[in-house]
Amino acid sequence: MIHALGASQGIAIGKAFVLPHWEWELPDQKIDVADLAKEFDRLYEGIRRSKTEISQMKTELDEAVGSNEASIFDAHLAILEDPVFMNEIQGIIQRQYKVAEVAVKEAIDHFVTMFDLLDDEYMKERALDIKDVGNRLLKHLLGAPEISLPEDTQPFVLVVRELSPSQLVHLKPELVLGIVTMVGSPTSHSAIMARAFGIPMVMGVEGKLDEPIGTGDLLVIDGETGMLQIDPTPEIIARYTEMRKRLLAHKEQLLKLAEVPSVSMDGVRITLAANISSLKELDAALSNGAQGVGLFRTEFLYMDRAHFPTEDEQFEVYRAAAQKLNGNKLIIRTLDIGGDKHLDYFEMPEEENPFLGFRAIRFSLQRKDLFKIQLRAILRASYYGDVWIMYPLITSVEEVREANEVLAEAKRELLTEGIPHRADVKAGIMIEVPAAVAIADVLAEEAAFFSIGTNDLIQFTLAVDRMNEQISHMYEPFHPAILRMIRTVSEAARASGIPVSICGEIAGDVQALPIWLGLGIEELSLSAQAILPVKQSLLRSRASDSRSLLESIFRCRTAAEARALANQFHAEAALAPGNAKPPV
Ligand code: PEP
Ligand code: MG
Repeated sequence: MIHALGASQGIAIGKAFVLPHWEWELPDQKIDVADLAKEFDRLYEGIRRSKTEISQMKTELDEAVGSNEASIFDAHLAILEDPVFMNEIQGIIQRQYKVAEVAVKEAIDHFVTMFDLLDDEYMKERALDIKDVGNRLLKHLLGAPEISLPEDTQPFVLVVRELSPSQLVHLKPELVLGIVTMVGSPTSHSAIMARAFGIPMVMGVEGKLDEPIGTGDLLVIDGETGMLQIDPTPEIIARYTEMRKRLLAHKEQLLKLAEVPSVSMDGVRITLAANISSLKELDAALSNGAQGVGLFRTEFLYMDRAHFPTEDEQFEVYRAAAQKLNGNKLIIRTLDIGGDKHLDYFEMPEEENPFLGFRAIRFSLQRKDLFKIQLRAILRASYYGDVWIMYPLITSVEEVREANEVLAEAKRELLTEGIPHRADVKAGIMIEVPAAVAIADVLAEEAAFFSIGTNDLIQFTLAVDRMNEQISHMYEPFHPAILRMIRTVSEAARASGIPVSICGEIAGDVQALPIWLGLGIEELSLSAQAILPVKQSLLRSRASDSRSLLESIFRCRTAAEARALANQFHAEAALAPGNAKPPV
């Protein structure tokens, strides 16, 4: 039995499907002049194999879904015959004596960068095709193993070295029973998404396996504790099947709370809104009783396609979300790309520290053309509901002002064009960088609301990379520094009379609920799966008790002491006879 990191609650029992690692190690030796002909032969053999494979896929897809979908493969075949692409590869081999793999990789990079720079959607799509075909060719040159889906297409437990959000967005949740990753940590966006989809996930297994997991191995995973068992005994299977049944039954029970008002025993209300990244997640959130959306992570809308979404494409999604919410608030966060979130069709610069780099509002303020398209789409959707705008990763007053200028320009344009929108849309900011906490009082004069993004705030304050499983034990929301920062921000918001909410993953931790109650935080934004457990805790809590607990917590010098107090309080609240009117 292996113990790794529990990243998304739930138990999965099923056969493994191991996705081979697609990050190639390219040989760096040069070739001898005498071997040039041999190198060309290798290249042509790789091309031939790639073509055969593409033609096969084309036939299969044609039979399954028809020729329209399958025609994409014609474009791929054409690239392998394209003289410009091929000349580039051959030129690198012939003139620079580089091996075929390196020549192919350099040619892909060259064309992808060139096409990406063009302001032309068609060419950007071609860049994606080139990447795809080029990777296939590389796979053959390197003799890398074949990637194919499990033959029986029974649902499987996906085993993968690491999973990017853009890969996860393409998975079919109904086929994936669970996910195991070699590296990565529970605060990464992939883990957040797995939780949103309700897919059990265990991360950071690397170094803990005696033997690698093979496709077809039977696995049991527990996404709460991080347990992974390969080839389990019948007893273990029986035990976990039973646990799985109980978990599902508990979920069913919790669903009865969906319509119950979210009020503490002494009458303090906390709005429980949802974090979503798609309309599908909004449906899940609504059936879990979400009272609005406190964070719509729009970057997934950008990942789910082969080009930047147009204004109309975005507008349709935002409007549909606003309408589904039926008058409840929808906070749309502008694009937070960068960090661990990438677009297949847009080459980001190589960065030493992507989380500290060209991302979020920094990207939007450099690409105001794209930013304005998004703001126009949000403004148009605001006509159909209670839509608010939120800027991510704000570190200064200037950024808020500059973003608001683009917003004002978007409003002016829509007004001139006679397109309906609401001119009084509220524009607020995420507080997720220590700098923003330090100047929260001045930012509160510039922003219509605050939402505290603890995921990033913790990583920046504690200098703990949220993606790094080696130090994930140091990623501690109960660290006194974090608790004090949250208090500072909530006090600054209160002093300026603007609303403040918490939208990081800690909002979904039932142990942290007394902190919000004690601080007087009136809104939390959580992943769909966390809404009802938190509501259940709220129904059993008293704000008055939470306030005294909070005083003790703020006297704690270590996170461990603070956590112990919160745990004890939580356990007692669940058991106390006076609090025992739990509807569930
Ligand atoms: C956060 O940083 O807390 C947050 C909610 O944003 P994200 O997790 O998308 O970075
Ligand atoms: Mg963030």
